[in-house]
Amino acid sequence: MTPFTYARAADAPAAVRLAEATAAAKYLGGGTNLVDLMREGIERPAALVDVTGLSRTIETRGDGSVVIGAAASNTAVAADMTIRAHYPLLARAILAGASSQIRNMATVGGNILQRTRCTYFYDDTGSRCNKRNPGQGCDAIHGFNRIHAILGSSALCVATHPSDMAVALAALDAVVHVRGAGGERTLPFVDLHRLPEAHPEIDTVLAPGELITAIELPAMSPAARSTYRKVRDRASYAFALVSVAAIVDTDGGAIRDVRLALGGVAHKPWRATKAETALRGQPATAANFRAAAEAELADAVPLRDNGFKIELARRAIVAVLGELTGVAA
Ligand SMILES: Cc1cc2nc3c(=O)[nH]c(=O)nc-3n(C[C@H](O)[C@H](O)[C@H](O)COP(=O)(O)OP(=O)(O)OC[C@H]3O[C@@H](n4cnc5c(N)ncnc54)[C@H](O)[C@@H]3O)c2cc1C
Repeated sequence: MTPFTYARAADAPAAVRLAEATAAAKYLGGGTNLVDLMREGIERPAALVDVTGLSRTIETRGDGSVVIGAAASNTAVAADMTIRAHYPLLARAILAGASSQIRNMATVGGNILQRTRCTYFYDDTGSRCNKRNPGQGCDAIHGFNRIHAILGSSALCVATHPSDMAVALAALDAVVHVRGAGGERTLPFVDLHRLPEAHPEIDTVLAPGELITAIELPAMSPAARSTYRKVRDRASYAFALVSVAAIVDTDGGAIRDVRLALGGVAHKPWRATKAETALRGQPATAANFRAAAEAELADAVPLRDNGFKIELARRAIVAVLGELTGVAA
């Protein structure tokens, strides 16, 4: 492991100042991803700024929105009664991930910014990876690519984003609160992560040194129903092959509003806007669910081993919409 310094920040401004002081600094949440990557030599920060002392409150505002401090543990968010009552898809998504021990350590900020689980990215000694070493090439594209992307990939990278929580936040229209050297800003969660394009080594639109301080969840319509379904190889301790986060609001058998996001299919949590457009205002029927899923997956491009994900994603969308509307799918 490359030598590094360690400092614990008392608050967000101090964290940003500490990170600014060293060019190759990284923020440290629970360390359940970053420390693994440091042990493998994939991440080599010169300084770690521990941000577990930042806000971990989960606060409901007067307008019904909820603000979650970035240092809140995954366990605390999933167990919070407000989250469970009003944002059940978020609690389900968190509980579908990792193990209870890891969720106890993992923070909201770290979960969202965890790096891909592409096996070629982790194989520092034997495989080429443009995300790990820009310009090196990608052994996943013609390799064993069962877990890789079917949407939005590029000629340089077919990795997927691994976070379950992030898929729920994409469907929820969450807002990210960020602090950097230039001050504070907010951005829509769906704009936080990038598609790989020509720069797969860059996961997000955050500037170097920018710190996530909180996640804001807009108030949920009391009529909306929501869930998260994860399809994976094992019932626990496995990343999603495909997952669906869905929020549906119906009115007399018609879909008044719907928000859908997919996991396990792209370099970022994939907001299924084509399916949403196809569904809004339409009767909640199995045929319409299937047509919406077809519309979303129309641009999917399979690799050698992951063509099954296209039909899996279609069926997962249809099943989840059926569950939330009570329509046999
Ligand atoms: C065996 C195993 C199984 C797993 N299974 C799943 C799964 O099924 N689903 C799933 O979603 N996840 C899974 N995970 C991943 C786990 O959820 C993540 O490791 C965890 O959420 C990361 O949180 P952390 O606080 O430990 O992040 P860290 O490891 O501390 O940090 C991760 C990244 O976020 C950055 N960071 C941390 N906090 C901030 C901040 N506030 N602002 C800016 N940058 C920040 C760090 O610099 C680093 O780059 C699994 C992990 C393991 C080890």
